[in-house]
Amino acid sequence: MKFIEIKNVYKVYNNGVTALVDTNLSIGKGEFVFVIGNSGSGKSTLIKLLYREEKPTKGEVLVGGINVAKLRNGSVYKLRRKIGVVFQDFKLLPKLTVYENVAFGLESIGIKDDEVRTKVIRALELVGLKDKVRAFPNQLSGGEQQRVCIARAIVNDPKVLICDEPTGDLDPNLSLEIVKLLEDINKELKTTIIMATHDSQIVNKMKKRVIAIENGVVVYDQEKGKYYESSKSNN
Ligand code: ADP
Repeated sequence: MKFIEIKNVYKVYNNGVTALVDTNLSIGKGEFVFVIGNSGSGKSTLIKLLYREEKPTKGEVLVGGINVAKLRNGSVYKLRRKIGVVFQDFKLLPKLTVYENVAFGLESIGIKDDEVRTKVIRALELVGLKDKVRAFPNQLSGGEQQRVCIARAIVNDPKVLICDEPTGDLDPNLSLEIVKLLEDINKELKTTIIMATHDSQIVNKMKKRVIAIENGVVVYDQEKGKYYESSKSNN
């Protein structure tokens, strides 16, 4: 069994919109995977199932041996500790410094001050922002703000880093820088990385496994090396 297993998953939202149809995916420990598809194709939904922001309507989601859909609300924190998340809009707390933003989650789970310090400095070093510890988010460029978010997401050594359109608000050069940083993290920390994007330029440059979704259907999975029937008719 792979580290992440998605089996026969369907997601139908309350308003009747079907976001995922019979989705099956396996992702191994330490992989770097792009999930691509147009806006509205189901990328975010797929990603939200992994950290239990949404539950599947049908099917199974397994992350590191945890049956995500069946997890009790009171145990969701056990899953979330294994997962770091980076979003398109940075979601940094504007009144906290870079250091405080990265430390925030650690402090709230009761990690001691000196350990927090070691972890925060290490994460900021990794993303190349150690000299910005005292800056506030509005004193940073977009690329720098996204680096802070990445530091915040990796600070507690998650097994998986999930990135939902992390370069959506960045220009092409910065986007590539951010993805290269994710690649470094993948190599150095062995973190499994799943990145949703509609930026085909980046995907083409990086030469990683690609999973493509169209209208809620996985139409291509590089691991399986083929386009499925549903997309063949479009090509
Ligand atoms: P993507 O990330 O590829 O843009 P999403 O997963 O966000 O796609 O959306 C897939 C489909 O599900 C879209 O039709 C979207 O409108 C719908 N959708 C997403 N979130 C919700 C929600 N909370 N309630 C109802 N429909 C939703």
